[in-house]
Amino acid sequence: MTQYEVVMGLEVHVELDTRTKLFCSCPAQFGAEANENVCPACAGMPGFPPITNKRAVELGIAAAIVTNSEIAKIMSFEKKNYFYPDLPSGYQVTQFFAPICRNGKVEIETPEGKKTITLKQIHIEEDAGKLVHDSRAAATLADYNRAAVPLAEIVSNPDFRTAGEVVAYLEKLRSLLSFAGVSDCKMQEGSMRCDVNISVREMGTDTLGVRAEIKNMNSLKAIAAAIEYESRRHIEALETGCEELIQETRRWDDNLGETFSMRGKENATDYRYFPNPEIMPVIISEEWIAAVRGTLPETAEDKLRRMTGELGLSQYDSGIITGSKNLSQIFDETMKLFAKPKEVANWIIVELLSIAKGDNKGADDIKIDCGKFAALMRLVDEKTINRNVGKKLLVKVLEDNIDPQEYVRENKLGMVSDTGLIEAAVREVLKQNAKSVEQYKAGSQKVMGFLIGQTMKALGGKADPQIVGKLIASALAQE
Ligand code: ZN
Ligand code: MN
Repeated sequence: MTQYEVVMGLEVHVELDTRTKLFCSCPAQFGAEANENVCPACAGMPGFPPITNKRAVELGIAAAIVTNSEIAKIMSFEKKNYFYPDLPSGYQVTQFFAPICRNGKVEIETPEGKKTITLKQIHIEEDAGKLVHDSRAAATLADYNRAAVPLAEIVSNPDFRTAGEVVAYLEKLRSLLSFAGVSDCKMQEGSMRCDVNISVREMGTDTLGVRAEIKNMNSLKAIAAAIEYESRRHIEALETGCEELIQETRRWDDNLGETFSMRGKENATDYRYFPNPEIMPVIISEEWIAAVRGTLPETAEDKLRRMTGELGLSQYDSGIITGSKNLSQIFDETMKLFAKPKEVANWIIVELLSIAKGDNKGADDIKIDCGKFAALMRLVDEKTINRNVGKKLLVKVLEDNIDPQEYVRENKLGMVSDTGLIEAAVREVLKQNAKSVEQYKAGSQKVMGFLIGQTMKALGGKADPQIVGKLIASALAQE
């Protein structure tokens, strides 16, 4: 039987985290009213000279550094010509002759060990606008807020063989770029988008098969499913000849679980790239690169090493926290105010993440005042309140942004520390649960938990369960 090999290359677009657009001072932020963030320059009017956004270039340099790329000494912007209503100037400003960097390397983990994915290049370019199809008006409306928002496009060589490798690479890119502050890389919000070029060939040959490009997928799950579907389609076509493979662009339909053809793909030369005389080339000096390198924060890998080493946390806990830039920031901020790494990690992983999960939120969506988070952990640590009350406070901090100390004082949630009071409650509980006491004496350890629960209830949930347990044990020993 013929063995087949799937060959894939990726084009990943990330939105650069700049305040303004690539060549004008319009805000680059998402969520404004349609066409609010538009000026003549980004609406493609002739005669408005573009001015390159320095911050976008610096973020491009940062992307080059974290992907181990060779940075250009001079980079230029070119015009990529095509007509589409979301592109008001009739061309996209992108980099073709001299991109910001080439020949990057990104290491990923695979079941077979480490693998290096090589990058052809990273280039900076403008995003297009957005078309809104309005069924009531039976019209298509153009919103140019996103036109000329800066993007970095990361182009890999065809180094991928499995969907697993693709997913591992995207997760690695997200980690590298979000920790470096290049982009927040939120796939669901479109700040990270991925196109997969895929072809299938007989194992052992080195010519590439007919290539399809699957565009605009917005989740890792969809990407993996689309790759599985598309590889099967190619292999079936090769084996049975039932379908002729053509070079084309396809789209993934998440509901049907299928790809379908969008259009035949033009060759790159069809875009008639040519120099853009309006935009000055940018000289990237060694000093500038060094300065950007100096501002780069810790990578996820460095942070993981520090957490498992110096801070003594487990590989598992450290992996969860460094898997999200947001959680890492919450961890670092909270640690500045309450420097007990195991406690902080525990509260983040066990409590904070499960509350978020209950609200259908991911790790990157959690917002918390770290000062208040630290304050409530301190209240538990100092035994002012017990852990259960602490959990309830955490929900209150997240929902109503309460001040933990004040809230505990006002609602009298402080722990009962008067031993006499706890002993009285224990005596009462034992008296009322004579049957359980009998069972305990007969050797049943299980009833202990029940008796602790009853005593805690009698004390309004505000005692230290460990102390309650000890006092019950000594009371039972005297029975
Ligand atoms: Zn503008
Ligand atoms: Mn592009």
